[in-house]
Amino acid sequence: MPLVTMKQVLDEAIRGNYAVGAFNVNNMEQIKGIMEAARQTKSPVILQASRGARKYAGRRFLRHLILAAIEEYPEIPIAMHLDHGNNLQSCIEAIEDGFTSVMIDGSLAEDGKTPAPYDYNLNVTRQVVLYAHERGVTVEGELGCLGGIEDGVGSGEVKLADPDQAVEFAEKTGVDALALGFGTSHGAYKFKKEPKLAYHIVEKVHQHRPDLPIVSHGSSSVPRDLVDRINAFGGHMPNAMGVPLSDLVRSIDSGVRKINIDTDTRLGVTGVIREVFAKQPDKFDPRDYLKPAMEEITRIVAERMRAFRTAGHAGDYAPVSLGDMKKAYTRK
Ligand SMILES: [Zn+2]
Repeated sequence: MPLVTMKQVLDEAIRGNYAVGAFNVNNMEQIKGIMEAARQTKSPVILQASRGARKYAGRRFLRHLILAAIEEYPEIPIAMHLDHGNNLQSCIEAIEDGFTSVMIDGSLAEDGKTPAPYDYNLNVTRQVVLYAHERGVTVEGELGCLGGIEDGVGSGEVKLADPDQAVEFAEKTGVDALALGFGTSHGAYKFKKEPKLAYHIVEKVHQHRPDLPIVSHGSSSVPRDLVDRINAFGGHMPNAMGVPLSDLVRSIDSGVRKINIDTDTRLGVTGVIREVFAKQPDKFDPRDYLKPAMEEITRIVAERMRAFRTAGHAGDYAPVSLGDMKKAYTRK
C-alpha cells in the first residue's frame, strides 16, 4: 500500500486503544530490521528520520529506501515522519521528499538547542500546520522540554508541560499530535535514578482532548542486558538508564499513542557488532556482523510492538490518500 499519514495511523490507535512505535532510521539495515518486525507482528509502523538522518543518508537515499519498504511490505501501513523539524523550511523539504508527517519542534529555537518562548512555538507551529494540512500531511508539535540530547537536538534541561497550556496550544495550532514533556528524556543517559513519569500531565490533556494523540519522546528502555553486552565486549557505557517498558505501557493507558524509540536499536546493533568482532576476529565481510545486527533490531522492535499492543493491527484499515486528508482538513 502507499504511505499512510501519521494522523490515520494514530487515529486508528486511539480507536483500538494501543500505541504505535516510531523508530528512527538512517540506513537500509535499520529499515529492513524494523519492517521485518512489523511483518512478524502484523503491526502498523512509523518510520522517522531526524535532520541528522537526512544529512547522513542524503535526502534521495532516504526517500528511496522508504519507497523500497513500501514495495517489499505492501501489507504494512507505514507513515514516514520527520523527527524534530527545526523550522518551516525543514518541514517543507521533508514534505517535498514525500514524508506524510512532520514534527515541528517549536519548544526549541531553530538551533535545536535553546528553549524557545511559548509565543514563538505557537507561531512556527501554526505556519507548519497551515502548509502541511494544505497537502494532507500530518503535523506533530511539542510542548515542554525533554531532558537529554540526541542527534544534537535538545537543551539538556527538563521542562514539564503545563496541561492547560497544552490543551490551548493544540486548539490554537491545530496540530494532529502533541509531544509532551512528562519526564521522558532523549539518549542513553537519561536518568541518574529510576525515572518517575508525570502521568497526570498526559491524563489531564487526554481528558480534555481524547481525540488528540499524545507523543512520548525519548522512550528507549536502555535494557540492562543490551548495555551489559556492549560493556562485556570492550564498550564503555557506565550508568546508562532508560524508561522501563512497563512505564511506557502504563503511559498508553494514560493517553500516549506514539512512542519514539531510537537508542534501544542503536544499543542492540552496537552490542551485536562488538560481540562478533570480539569472538570472531577473523571476520571481515560486513554482512557477517550487519546481518545479526539487523536481526537484533527485529527482535527489539517486535518486543515493543507486542508490548505497545500494536501487534495484529496492520490489516485493520485501508490507506486514506493525502488528497482525501487535505479535503478533510479544509472541511474543518
Ligand atoms: Zn525527540
